[in-house]
Amino acid sequence: MDEKTARREIVRVGELMYQRGYVVSSDGNLSVRLEDNRIVATPTQTSKGRMTEDSLAVTDLEGKPLNDRRASSELAMHLLIYRQRPDVRAVCHAHPPHGSAFAVAGLAIDQPILSEVILTLGCVPLAEYGTPSTDELTEAMRPLVKNHNALLMANHGAVAYGADIWQAFDRLETLEHTARIAILSRALGGSRSLPPDAIEKLINVREAAGYLDERARCQACGYLHETRITCPAGERDGATQKPRAAAGGTQSNGRISLTREELIELLVQAAQLKS
Ligand SMILES: [Zn+2]
Repeated sequence: MDEKTARREIVRVGELMYQRGYVVSSDGNLSVRLEDNRIVATPTQTSKGRMTEDSLAVTDLEGKPLNDRRASSELAMHLLIYRQRPDVRAVCHAHPPHGSAFAVAGLAIDQPILSEVILTLGCVPLAEYGTPSTDELTEAMRPLVKNHNALLMANHGAVAYGADIWQAFDRLETLEHTARIAILSRALGGSRSLPPDAIEKLINVREAAGYLDERARCQACGYLHETRITCPAGERDGATQKPRAAAGGTQSNGRISLTREELIELLVQAAQLKS
């Protein structure tokens, strides 16, 4: 993509993010990597809803300014993603309310509840909290960037990335839409997860269609452990992600293990039975 097109599309996607309520005030930031590895990025302290093409900053892959505009203070997050993922050409960071609610509640978006999301996005893990604009944040994200296409950042927001700015934006939109549906389903008594054989079929379809490649098998979602899908790298992302116990969650020593989400679901169901 040439610089002129990148500038035009960043302004357009910024307007969309603002109109859809994914950002308010000067929240969020966007960037595109040009063919020569220069980065066109949104400027600091500017509403994404009213940027102009000439307001954008240009840097190199280390963040060194190449024009007289100052890039967002969160550019380091974008640069980390570009360095780890040569396939990524654009990054969208925002604070969409439903996705951010998951991040505030300490929850990943990683339940197998929507077939299309397994096909096109996969799991969205939660990176631990790190102070924005510091190494803390990028270090928390680092182990998760390789095999995921979107991340939540605890007590902060979300970031999505892709082969071009529209794919990055679409992934952000899917993340937010999924979070919204997950929250609404709880009001209706909780979501029902797809069974492991249905998940396996979806993973086969997404690889055959080229939506996601084998790297996504290494994502940090508990439900992948319940399928026969193996991670080609041998180890799934998120070292703290433990295999779930067999169906029912009962281990051989008679103890029960539940994820935080499963526990919340059980408590919600129990409260509904009582009332
Ligand atoms: Zn932010």
